Amino acid sequence: LAAALLSVSLTACGQEARGGSRYQPPAGGGGTVGLAMPTKASERWIADGENMAEQFRKAGYATDLQYGDDKVENQIAQIENMITKGRTLLVVAAIDGSALTEVLRRAEDAGIPVIAYDRLIMGTEHVDYYASFDNERVGELEARYIVDKLELGPPGSAGKAYNIELFAGSPDDNNTRYFWNGAMKVLQPYLTSGRLVVRSGQTRMNQATTLRWDGGTAQKRMDDLISKNYGAQRVDAVLSPYDGISIGVISALKSAGYGTKSRPLPVVTGQDAELASVKSIIRGEQTQTVFKDTRKLAAQAVKMGDAVLNGKKPEVNNVTDYDNGKKTVPSFLLNPVSIDKTNTRLLVDEGYFTAGQLK
Ligand code: BGC
Repeated sequence: LAAALLSVSLTACGQEARGGSRYQPPAGGGGTVGLAMPTKASERWIADGENMAEQFRKAGYATDLQYGDDKVENQIAQIENMITKGRTLLVVAAIDGSALTEVLRRAEDAGIPVIAYDRLIMGTEHVDYYASFDNERVGELEARYIVDKLELGPPGSAGKAYNIELFAGSPDDNNTRYFWNGAMKVLQPYLTSGRLVVRSGQTRMNQATTLRWDGGTAQKRMDDLISKNYGAQRVDAVLSPYDGISIGVISALKSAGYGTKSRPLPVVTGQDAELASVKSIIRGEQTQTVFKDTRKLAAQAVKMGDAVLNGKKPEVNNVTDYDNGKKTVPSFLLNPVSIDKTNTRLLVDEGYFTAGQLK
């Protein structure tokens, strides 16, 4: 314990105002960076963790990479452990964005800077920077895809009405409401004019959320939506905010007889360009996904971390949009890209997948 306390106090560099200059690089090298990732159940987080570990190593740091298995208490314990071990920086993709206030107070006391990775950490001042994608844009891309695919035309255009059902992400993930708001900005005029109809009536985000982004949970909800609301009627589109949810939704649709010539699958969106979903898109099942290059996000977080640890101000491109309830966190947001079967090739050209993987 004495050794742990000593290493903690060695990394504490005073309590001046937060910002670029209060953190001193540890003597004799970059030290060890703690990477707290949410789960290995989804490919993207495995890639995020590995990419960051590799890139931090290249920049001269050791890393301590931990996955919380989507259990909030695991993640808190892992972060506590990182603090005790004197990690010089924490990069955290929160499982529950609002559950880290206590543990991050301890990080602050120990002088350890914190970067929120992909998901904003809420309700604490002890988050220095945020690296993510433009989350509202993700929702816009999904919704825009549905509008274009159904050929609804500009808001206000007359024409046939289509049935849509809406899914949202995990209610404890701050990104969820950004994806939702981005999508609803595009969809709302069509819902209002009646060109899009939600037969279940579940049009509020809190009716559409999917705890921990779980595909099985989404599948059950979709089973239910179909059996209660779609007797003779057809589902024409499903707004899905994540590939794992899309896979669950498509399974439910197939069990209900969709996916044949006479009853084709609806338009189903997604997010993350996970391999199973890209293959599903190529097969003609899932319709769209949103590609967010995890290598670029990792590079951004590593650049931020390295700057903070060297007393420099990291580059940011958004200082207004991400308020966590205690502060507006300076952010760097990357651009998401919409993918459907016409441009899956991009994923190969960018080296995200090999051509062989997509066969
Ligand atoms: C991420 C998405 C991901 C989702 C589920 C969100 O916070 O931004 O990329 O699909 O979590 O893992």
